[in-house]
Amino acid sequence: MKKCKYCGHVLEGDTLICSNCGRRTYLKRFYRSRNDRKFLGICGGLGEYFGVDSNLIRVITALFILWSGALPGLIVYFIFGVMIPYSDE
Ligand SMILES: [Zn+2]
Repeated sequence: MKKCKYCGHVLEGDTLICSNCGRRTYLKRFYRSRNDRKFLGICGGLGEYFGVDSNLIRVITALFILWSGALPGLIVYFIFGVMIPYSDE
């Protein structure tokens, strides 16, 4: 059971907007960001999801890609990019 993190109202289905207080909740799954995107919007989406600076996520992602030897990390990044939908905002 999912609840609004602001008012505690029980949320129906996959809704992102609380029907009681009208505020947006982040209980739903991870989305790519349309607003905060440099490439596929994955880092911006992660930043929104975890509430941290998306530039920090970008640095970590870049380090991961370099650490993996470039290609494997890029493939993972693109798989995420294909699988994860954009947010509806
Ligand atoms: Zn609410």
